[in-house]
Amino acid sequence: MLIDLHAHSNASDGTDSPAALVASGVAAGLDVLAITDHDTFGGWDEARAAAENAPLELVRGVEVSCRLGSYGVHLLAFGVDRDDPALGAELARIRSGRVGRVPAIVRALRPYGVELEVDEIGGGESPGRPHVADALVAGGYAESRQDAFARWLEPGKPGYVTRYAPEPMDMIRLVAAAGGVSVLAHPRGRDSAPVISDQVIADLAEAGLAGLEVDHHDHPPKVREALRTLANRLGLVVTGSSDYHGSGKVDHDLGSERTDPDQYRRLFER
Ligand code: AMP
Ligand code: FE
Ligand code: FE
Ligand code: ZN
Repeated sequence: MLIDLHAHSNASDGTDSPAALVASGVAAGLDVLAITDHDTFGGWDEARAAAENAPLELVRGVEVSCRLGSYGVHLLAFGVDRDDPALGAELARIRSGRVGRVPAIVRALRPYGVELEVDEIGGGESPGRPHVADALVAGGYAESRQDAFARWLEPGKPGYVTRYAPEPMDMIRLVAAAGGVSVLAHPRGRDSAPVISDQVIADLAEAGLAGLEVDHHDHPPKVREALRTLANRLGLVVTGSSDYHGSGKVDHDLGSERTDPDQYRRLFER
């Protein structure tokens, strides 16, 4: 049984449409696929329609952009009522921070000779730095998304602009109140590693965190081992997932990292 619990469509910064994402999941032989766009359920209706007659179980998720100190921390939420008013309002607040950041990035890049227009940047209701990166590539200011981040968009580079993000502790509670479960995405990945200590994970578990995304491309073997041990000690579910972004991220093919069926069952019992 192949279970992949973290994938993006072009409702956020993936490159497949939601229907194409489902088709890619089928082609990859997945039995379970979660659509987890950044801060939006905008891809859900199309994906669900595409999954209706597909040999695959589609899970509704969302990857919420949180922040702890000055570090980005991503929380995967599954099984929430997407009409929950409190959660909906918070996601809308995050998206509005994303939309407002786009012109701020464009302005910040101008003094460096980068002539981008706001309407050249895609992303719909949940635009992210990857959409700015695509526009930078199209304008000849970078070779690839990765290169655009390295030159312009990482912290410390001219186009890095912060935006609103809630604390993971508060988001875990909102997700629980909306009937869902939370899994900490790539806890020791590039963005979160400096702030996600064992103690912080224990505190989040205390607040109701259900699982840790242990098997993720950003985690080398030693890190996975340590996180698995910690998850077992804290009674957290262990997940694994590709964090697929279509052609927007290399080495993140659907099914390249997977969740064990027993762990999947445990997660959805909660
Ligand atoms: P945002 O939430 O809009 O600030 O952008 C975060 C997204 O950018 C995440 O989906 C990451 O996958 C992607 N990202 C962050 N850093 C990099 C990087 N150095 N190279 C490529 N993609 C990145
Ligand atoms: Fe992303
Ligand atoms: Fe993420
Ligand atoms: Zn992701």
